[in-house]
Amino acid sequence: MSAVDLPVITDAPKALKPPVDAAALAHKDLLDGPFWQRIPAYADVDEATFLDHRWQSKHTITRPDKLLAAIEGLVPQSFIDDAAAGFERAPMAVRVSPYLLSLIDWDDPVNDPLRIQFIPLDSRFLPDHPKLGLDSLGEQADAPVPGLTHRYPDKALFLVIDTCPVYCRFCTRSYAVGLDTAQVEKVQLKPKKERWDAAFAYVASRPELEDIVISGGDAYNLRADWIREIGTRLLNMPNIRRIRFASKGLAVMPMKVLTDEDWFRALVEVHDLGRRLGKEVAFHTHFNNAKEITAYSQRALQRMFEAGIIVRNQSVLLRGVNDTPAEMGLLVKRLGYINAHPYYVYVHDLVQGAEDMRTTVQTAIDLEKYVRGLTAGFNTPTFVVDAPGGGGKRNAHSFEHYDRHSGISVYTAPSVKPGQFFLYFDPIDQLAPEWQIRWRDPAEQQRMIDAALAAAR
Ligand SMILES: *Cc1c(COP(=O)(O)O)cnc(C)c1O
Ligand code: SF4
Repeated sequence: MSAVDLPVITDAPKALKPPVDAAALAHKDLLDGPFWQRIPAYADVDEATFLDHRWQSKHTITRPDKLLAAIEGLVPQSFIDDAAAGFERAPMAVRVSPYLLSLIDWDDPVNDPLRIQFIPLDSRFLPDHPKLGLDSLGEQADAPVPGLTHRYPDKALFLVIDTCPVYCRFCTRSYAVGLDTAQVEKVQLKPKKERWDAAFAYVASRPELEDIVISGGDAYNLRADWIREIGTRLLNMPNIRRIRFASKGLAVMPMKVLTDEDWFRALVEVHDLGRRLGKEVAFHTHFNNAKEITAYSQRALQRMFEAGIIVRNQSVLLRGVNDTPAEMGLLVKRLGYINAHPYYVYVHDLVQGAEDMRTTVQTAIDLEKYVRGLTAGFNTPTFVVDAPGGGGKRNAHSFEHYDRHSGISVYTAPSVKPGQFFLYFDPIDQLAPEWQIRWRDPAEQQRMIDAALAAAR
């Protein structure tokens, strides 16, 4: 712009933006109890009982038949049959907390964002992408010790445990997490002392490692004494500067933060030790839809905030859950509102049995453009593709080449695996019909991949 183009301000400042009607600020409108009493089985459950983490754990449903029994009468029989057949096909074991079950809109379960994440429907299944592999991120290939992935120069991912408070249909680690199912026999990552010792020895032996992600499975399922042991051992290593506990728990069972005093105290103790040592102890959680954030989530987050623990959120971009500007915008605003920093939105990995939930890379790019500018920059998530084959997280828009017809995007990762190309594949059902046909033929698949790689070079 040259100086002549600058707008000339002559009058006193005007109110250019009329005030927004407070009722339109939906992100502040958090669901409060006792919403669970809509479920017949919880009709007599009072708030104190519902907030008791032991009650939540004890009543968490781990069998398809039990889950379907709990919602009988709330939904038509056709839905029950569809879900029963869905569970038969699913690679993940079922695990749904009463809190989650109560948040699902049983008047429209097919389209409910929580139903989509936790209850498979046979009628919605799509064939897996032909290029899908079980450990699509190559986490095991980058593991010097079982359950410890050292991919990036200065940080490592420590899978301490193989269970979670719930099981998500779209889990990236369905190769290891949860019980064996009819479809998948899992890699064993039990919380074993010897395995942990080997991981700690490796971390201590690598001066370049400064940052450890403690994940799984889910840190929520770590006993208080395990949190103390893992936290203290890592923080006492001179090379370690940062650790983070990763847990979906805050999103699916905020009760634990509110009522499991021993567990919460252990977390605060580790955090406070980190503070004294000048090291960051953060908590990373996993909300995917604004509906998951209730007045109880806010209370749990407030408890973390008062203790000084930074909470960041990593969402997975999921079709029907958060793939529209309205849904993603509301999620981002609501996360900021309860002091959970939106950190990442992951383009859905290539995961078995979850094709109906994946989106295109273009969807991520469009959402990223929309979200940037909505709120504080530090509350604006980065949209990433975790490159299949071990390239690590790449900005979704930073591809070397993206063929929107074949749905193939090509990424490089100079600091992680220099000189290599990594391919991501959009879900085939989102492509034009003539391109869907090409994916049926293995020779055509190879031609499309070769063309994308040639264009990237
Ligand atoms: C995501 C991840 C990390 C942490 O990466 P950040 O970008 O710092 O959140 C570390 N190791 C592995 C293998 C990961 O997948
Ligand atoms: S909580 Fe995380 S690790 Fe556990 S099933 Fe869900 S996505 Fe997988």
